[in-house]
Parts: sequence; structure tokens; C-alpha cells
Amino acid sequence: MSFRTKMIVGIALIEALFLFAILMSSLEVLSQSRAQALRVRAAGDAQLFATAAANALVSEDMGALQRIVRAVARNRGVFYAAAWDGNGRRLAHVGHDPARPGALQSRVDVKVGGVSYGTVEVGLMQGEFGRVLAQARQRIIAIALAEMILVGLASWFFGRYLIRHIAAVEAGTARIAQGEFGFHLPVDGHDELARMIEGFNAMSTQLEALQAEAARRHAEVLSLNERLEERVHERTEALAVANRELEYLAMHDPLTGLPNRILLQDRLLQAIRSASREPAPFALLVIDLDGFKDVNDSLGHQAGDSLLQETATRLLRELRQSDTAVRLGGDEFAVLLPTVATKEAAETVARKLLRALAEPVLLKDTSVRVAASCGAALFPVHGDEVGDLLRRADRAMYEAKRARQGFSLFAPHMEEEGDDRLRLQADLERAVQHEELVLYYQPKIDLLTGKVSGAEALVRWNHPTLGLLAPVRFVPLAERTRLIGPLTLRVLRLAVAQARAWADQGRPLPIAVNVSVANLDDEEFVGQVKHTLDESGVSSDLIEIEVTETALMRDPKRADAAIRALSHLGMRVSIDDFGTGYSSMTYLRKLAVAQIKIDKSFVMDMGISRNDSVIVRSIIDLGHSLGLKVVGEGVETAESMAALASLGCDYAQGYHLSHPLDPEAFDAWLRANP
Ligand code: C2E
Ligand code: MG
Ligand code: MG
Repeated sequence: MSFRTKMIVGIALIEALFLFAILMSSLEVLSQSRAQALRVRAAGDAQLFATAAANALVSEDMGALQRIVRAVARNRGVFYAAAWDGNGRRLAHVGHDPARPGALQSRVDVKVGGVSYGTVEVGLMQGEFGRVLAQARQRIIAIALAEMILVGLASWFFGRYLIRHIAAVEAGTARIAQGEFGFHLPVDGHDELARMIEGFNAMSTQLEALQAEAARRHAEVLSLNERLEERVHERTEALAVANRELEYLAMHDPLTGLPNRILLQDRLLQAIRSASREPAPFALLVIDLDGFKDVNDSLGHQAGDSLLQETATRLLRELRQSDTAVRLGGDEFAVLLPTVATKEAAETVARKLLRALAEPVLLKDTSVRVAASCGAALFPVHGDEVGDLLRRADRAMYEAKRARQGFSLFAPHMEEEGDDRLRLQADLERAVQHEELVLYYQPKIDLLTGKVSGAEALVRWNHPTLGLLAPVRFVPLAERTRLIGPLTLRVLRLAVAQARAWADQGRPLPIAVNVSVANLDDEEFVGQVKHTLDESGVSSDLIEIEVTETALMRDPKRADAAIRALSHLGMRVSIDDFGTGYSSMTYLRKLAVAQIKIDKSFVMDMGISRNDSVIVRSIIDLGHSLGLKVVGEGVETAESMAALASLGCDYAQGYHLSHPLDPEAFDAWLRANP
């Protein structure tokens, strides 16, 4: 049932009930007063009756009594009248059933002079009035009902009028519930409900604004989401690219673009694994450039980088698609040859690669030849683990380099030597301090006179267990560990002592001492040389200094300063191993050197390579044009000595004349060759 219906029915019911109650109660009052009046009349009628009947009773005149009774009974409303004598005998009566409902009786004693002569009674009938009352009651009910209907109708219209705002609000809330905002309900009047509608309208406007705001925010969030998704997508893409790049970088050498050690290890592992399923031997080569450091030192890092890139290009050019060339680091490369199974095949490939690498490279307008050394290890004969194969191929390479034979296949004894190298490093410090270093001397001959013009001091390490070690075994180690300072000083002291001894014997002979680039870098070095000379009292022209060309080129300015300072002390300075360091004419001219020593590789190959004899000739001419003396090193044959002499070279040094000798043997040699 709707609120309106409830209200209407409620109001009508209450109204009707009230009206009904009022009417009924007034009816009751009316009925009561009517009854009272009736009683009064009955009492009056009875009194009149008694008065009228008194004589008839006293006289016992029945006829009169009868007439009086009939007369009384004829009165309006009287339906019964009776008279009794003093004994209670009814003497006359009109009408019956005095006790009928709705009747009202009134009885009066008939007394005369205080004596009772009988009783009279009248019965009055309320009948007519009761009917009227009943009719009134029915009318009242009808009126109440009509009133109820009327009130109902009036309430319906009035309620309709009153709750029109509420209904509007109800409809409005339904629209809001359906998500419709911003509409305005018509405002009618100025009462509270009208104000409620105004409030509702304001709320609707507010809701619309909020909805618009929410929609805007939602759209914003959506677009943000979209952008976010885009960004996430972009970032993911970028990350994937970066990851791929990182992965590439992690696996490749940025300079040459070749795979790196990590990738090689992976490939090796794969090769080993697949080989263990079906026997598939393969070869691993390790290649190291000879003299890369020299290129770097003398032509600069850019040239060094170009050389490495060129090396990579050449390796790739010579190799098959299935082979893997990698840069292990520095100037060290490795090649995995998955289809090469024999040592002969490995050597063939290695030699082919070495030939390709030995071709001249144009670096900074200088044509440079850089040879390389290659070691090989075969799977599974030389190892069936990645680490073993790599280490053994490296040992073999080291051996090839040491023996200057280009290529070398791994052999078990090499590993022992490799281990020795590590041990040596640890022993070297002790060796420098504990007089384990000895000097051998190699004579130098004046090619004009054929007489000894000096000796070169070449250091040896008299190792307690390994025996006499050549400088190549420990000088590079000393250079790497900074032990070169004390080592050179030790050599210098020994050489100075020897020079002093020969001078004391009346046979002064200049001794050349080799110094490293690290010595020239050391600011205290020149002072130490001077101090050593001063201490011994040996004349400074009896000690010569040899610096290799590559050492000079590493830091020409500093080398120049050191050379000047040494010459200033009165010592001759020679450029050793000349021809390997790519120094320029202009630079040579500025240096305070007295002598150049042609690298033995040119002298030794003079007889074989026309190129080399051209180089030797030009070095000699160049030296002379700069006013320098020229020494030919590595003179192993009489022919090369004659050739040098014919080219005008000043001095010769080499096995053909004498190997480096210990002081005693050197003395003997001197005596034999005065
Ligand atoms: P270097 O100064 O050029 O010395 C000449 C090297 O050539 C010596 O090797 C010598 O034994 C070798 N030799 C001489 N004649 C011939 C020959 O006819 N044919 C061949 N194939 N070789 C010949 P060694 O004694 O093994 O010294 C190698 C290098 O070690 C030296 O080359 C020098 O650079 C370095 N060295 C030697 N002693 C010292 C030293 O006390 N201090 C420093 N820093 N380096 C040293
Ligand atoms: Mg030398
Ligand atoms: Mg030399």
C-alpha cells in the first residue's frame, strides 16, 4: 500500500471514528435525557392517575375506576394502566405485558389521609422514541461512512497536493538511481517541501558536476593507463634491446666485434659435450701478436686498436663459417676449429692464419709488419675440459713465441715450464738480493780493425734448482713486477765491478748495460747510475747504456731527458734492436745517442731476404748520416760479417764471434783474440 493510500485511509478512518464517537455519545446523551423525561412523565402520570383514582378507590367505585383507567390508558405513549386495591388485587387495567422491553412503569400508592387504599401503575412505551433513536443511529453510521468517503476524497486530493513534492522527489531519486543527474524538478510554493525540492535540485546539479568530474578523472585514468601501457611496452622493448645489447656486449669484444672469452668457453663446452656423444676431435688455437706492445708504444693506442681490428678481419677472412675466432684480451686471440682433428691439419690452418697476419698493415701511413705466434691444443688428446684446453693452447703459444717458431703444438713438458714461470715470479725478488744474478759478456768487434771494441753485459739467473736462466725467462717478469729497478742496479754494479777489474788488469774495455723503459721512467735512475760510477771510481766512458728502440718510443720526451742526463755523465747511449720500433728520422736526430744497434733479425736474415739486406743498408746509411756509429747484432756467419763490413757498418756482435761468456771464459776468449 502506498504512503499516500495509507495516509488517506488513516486520516479518513480517524475522522470517521471521531465523528462516529461524537455522534454516538450525543445520541446517548439524548437517549438518557429522553429516558429521564419519560420517567418524570411516568411518575407525573402515575401521580395524576393516583389522584384521579383516589376517590374511586376509596369509594370502591369500580365503574369510575374503570373509566379513569381507560382515560389514563388513552394518553399518548401509555400502553398500560392498572389499579390495585390495598390488598394487591387488581381492580382495573388496560393494556398488557407491563414488563415488555422498552417499557417504563411507574407505580404510586394511593393514600388518603395517610391511609393506603391501593396502588396505580402506568406503563409508558418508549417505542416511538426508540425507533427514532435507532433511525438516528443508522443515520449517524451513514453520515460517518459518507464523511469517511468525503474525508477520504478530500484527503486524497489534499494529500496529493501535499505530497506532490515528495512524489517528485521519489521520481527524481528513481532517475538518480538510474544514473541520471543534473535535471531539475519544478518548484511549486515556498514551504519546506519546496525547499526540499530546491535542495534536491542543488544535489542533482552537484551530482552532475561530480559525475562529470568523475567521468573526466576516469577518462584521465584511462588515458594514463593507456599511456602507461604504452610506456611499459616501450620500456619493455627498450629493456629487451638493452638486454640483447648487454648480452652481446657480455659475449663480444667491443673493439673487434669478435666473440670474447666467455662465448668461447661456452662454444668449447658445447663442442666437448657433443663430442662426448660421438667422438669428434677438434682443435683450439691461441694466437698472440709479437711486438704488439711496440706498435702501441711507438705509434699510439689508436694504431694499436687498428692493428687489432685488422687482425680480427684477417682471421675471419681466412676461417670457415663453422670456425669461431675470438679475442681473448689484449693482443691474444683464439680460434676454435670444430672440424680440425689432427695436429697436421691444425698446423696447416695455424700457418695459414700466421701468414695472413704477417702481411704488412698500414698504420698511420707506416707500413708495419707484425708477426704472431700460435699454439694449438687438440681435444681430447691434450685435455677434455675447457680450462685445460685453453691453458694448454696458451702454453703452446708461449712456447712458439719463446722459440720464435711461429707455431707450436702442445706437449706435456710445456706445462711444467709454465708452472716454472709462476714459481720464478715468486723467486725473483730473492734472486735480485741474493747474488743469484750473474753477467755474461759478449764481445763487440770493430769491423775496420777487427779488434775487440767492447762487451755487452747480458744478465743470467743462476737459479738454485732450474740452473742458468736466460733473460727472456725473467726480465719481462721483472718489468711487470717493478723488480726491474733493483735488477738493473744489480747488473750495473756487476758491470761496473767488471769494468774496474779489466781496467785494473790494464785492459780497459767498455761494457754495455741494457736498461728497460721502466728504468728510464724512474726519476732516481740517473742519480743511481752516477752514484754507482762515483763509488767505484770507474770512468763513465767505460759504461755504455743500451735502450731498445721500442722503449724509447714509449715516452720519447722522458726517454730523451734520461738519455741526455746519461750522456751528460759521459756515457755513450745506444739504441738497441733498431728497426723494430718504427722511430722517425726527425726524432732520431734530436736524441743524444751515440750509436744504433741493428736488430739481429735483419742481420740474421740478410743472406736469405733481399728486403732485410736493403733494410740493413739503409739503417747503416741513416745512422751515419746522423753521425752515429752502427752495430750489427746477430752476426752468426762469416758471410754476414763480411756483408756488414762491406756496407760500412762500424761494429759487429754475434755468435760467429762469440756467444755470451761468463767472465772467466770471456777472459780466456780475450786472451785468444787480442
Ligand atoms: P739484446 O740486448 O739485443 O742482446 C742480444 C741478445 O742477442 C742476447 O740474448 C744474445 O745472447 C743474443 N745474441 C747475440 N748474438 C747472437 C747471434 O748471433 N744470434 C742470435 N740468435 N742471438 C744472438 P740474451 O742474452 O738472451 O738477451 C736477450 C735480451 O734480453 C737482450 O737483447 C736484452 O734486451 C735483454 N737483456 C739482457 N740482459 C739484460 C739486462 O741486464 N737488463 C735488461 N733490462 N735487459 C737485458
Ligand atoms: Mg742489448
Ligand atoms: Mg739487441
